Amino acid sequence: MSDDCIFCSIVAGDIPARTVHETDDVLAFLDANPLAPGHTLVIPKAHARHVGDLDDDLASDLFAAVTDLTPRVQDAVDADAANVGINDGEAAGQEVPHVHVHVIPRFEGDGGAPLHAVGG
Ligand code: 5GP
Repeated sequence: MSDDCIFCSIVAGDIPARTVHETDDVLAFLDANPLAPGHTLVIPKAHARHVGDLDDDLASDLFAAVTDLTPRVQDAVDADAANVGINDGEAAGQEVPHVHVHVIPRFEGDGGAPLHAVGG
């Protein structure tokens, strides 16, 4: 746990969040500023700033949660697809320094950008 980390505070229950999935090691909750209905963040409970800081077991648990949750999140909001991604490091747009996987439901014709639109 990192004292000044928002997501560690969510894990600790000090900041409320709308939890959608929880295991001993992983937590998933709705994004406070969703880019689409159902926008979900999946995080390791243990504080890690970068994906490269995760050990193999935790990386595996995190990805297992993502593969389980992605179709469920899509179904919950009747989405056609999803963007699943990580902003790893400030230059990549990481604002919260605790690893989190975005699961962003997408809808035909929603006009949003694909992840490969980086750099315009
Ligand atoms: P990043 O830019 O770091 O990849 O994404 C951080 C995400 O965390 C943003 O989508 C932002 O809306 C979300 N976020 C930031 N603070 C909070 C919070 O306190 N609660 C929740 N649920 N989401 C947050």
